[in-house]
Amino acid sequence: MNPSDPAFYHPAPRTQQYCSQCGHALTRDIPPDDNRIRDLCTHCGAVHYQNPRNVVGVVPILGDQVLLCRRAIEPRHGKWTLPAGFMELGETTEQGAARENQEESGARIRIESLYTVIDVPSVNQVHLFYLAQALDAHLAPGPETLEAAFFDLDRIPWHDLAFRTVSTTLEHYLKDREQGRFPTRHYAIDLRFPD
Ligand SMILES: [Zn+2]
Repeated sequence: MNPSDPAFYHPAPRTQQYCSQCGHALTRDIPPDDNRIRDLCTHCGAVHYQNPRNVVGVVPILGDQVLLCRRAIEPRHGKWTLPAGFMELGETTEQGAARENQEESGARIRIESLYTVIDVPSVNQVHLFYLAQALDAHLAPGPETLEAAFFDLDRIPWHDLAFRTVSTTLEHYLKDREQGRFPTRHYAIDLRFPD
């Protein structure tokens, strides 16, 4: 879909009802000199912008295996995912990916290169995955993970993966592995129309 197509733009869901500056009830409207619907405070004039969020993660490889974590939290409780989560303030994407891996799997890894950048405008997110080498088979999953495990690359649980961005990243990893090269890949997917 072309960004100039009006259907491309999805108004962000409301995350707050009241102005965080003055406490007045917010209204939704297009501010002067803007072209998008925003949460506005007609009392103090504040405009509460919302912007996409980054999800950062890793593809940890150990020989012919990839590390996956089974989610202990919603959404997609019980499904398998690459270690990943929302980026925090004050960290780089690489630091965030390493932190999420530590929190969710406890695996010792060495991050190698940025691998996939996946725009998901339908949920206002950008997902970034780094290729990483697992240094050993040690795992120590945290409370957001039911279990962590290394899967043979021909035994990835495709039908029990949590997210399209994870399956897209793993599909391309397998193809790139055949070629022996792993260029950074960029995609845009639309979760409203799952294929
Ligand atoms: Zn206000």
